[in-house]
Amino acid sequence: MAYDSEEGGDPRGSWCPKCQLPVRPGEPATRMHFAEDPYGHLGMSGKLWHGACAQPFWDTITPLLERLKKLGG
Ligand SMILES: [Zn+2]
Repeated sequence: MAYDSEEGGDPRGSWCPKCQLPVRPGEPATRMHFAEDPYGHLGMSGKLWHGACAQPFWDTITPLLERLKKLGG
């Protein structure tokens, strides 16, 4: 599967890690940060995710972040 010939600019600009498709300018997108990937080495954190792709993860990471806050505080 190659998206090199995808129209609409540089397809390598921002890729959604969830669906493996480019996040196009103007689309709803969220920059995500995961506790499991604080430096983005896993290709999860610091990336733009489609809003719809990121949304299910909020349920997952929000309790995690709350727990970390409690541990740290
Ligand atoms: Zn996506």
